[in-house]
Amino acid sequence: MAIDPQFTENREKVDEHNGHDVWGPVDEPEELGIHGTHVAVDFDLCIADGACLEDCPVDVFEWVETPDHPESEEKADPANEAQCIDCMLCVDVCPVDAIDVDAGRTA
Ligand code: SF4
Repeated sequence: MAIDPQFTENREKVDEHNGHDVWGPVDEPEELGIHGTHVAVDFDLCIADGACLEDCPVDVFEWVETPDHPESEEKADPANEAQCIDCMLCVDVCPVDAIDVDAGRTA
């Protein structure tokens, strides 16, 4: 399963975190939803591989602790999504297709 690219239509904005939107459903600690809008990371798919943090040329991602989540205890948070230059590297390197970037989709 990959992140739903239509998540803004299929999900509800339920919260904000570090200046970006959170799209539900959220039921912590097991269910964390999608973080970000322009750069969106499905926290429920993220396995904390880290390739996006290593490869992003403008440091959009930061680790955030997610204790007791079934997939991983930290997630790649799109904390600086406004810096994104739409290179699509993160989308290409994510091993579980947890990231979607859409230049036309802004918070
Ligand atoms: S598309 Fe490129 S610039 Fe934007 S978050 Fe992904 S790796 Fe970073």
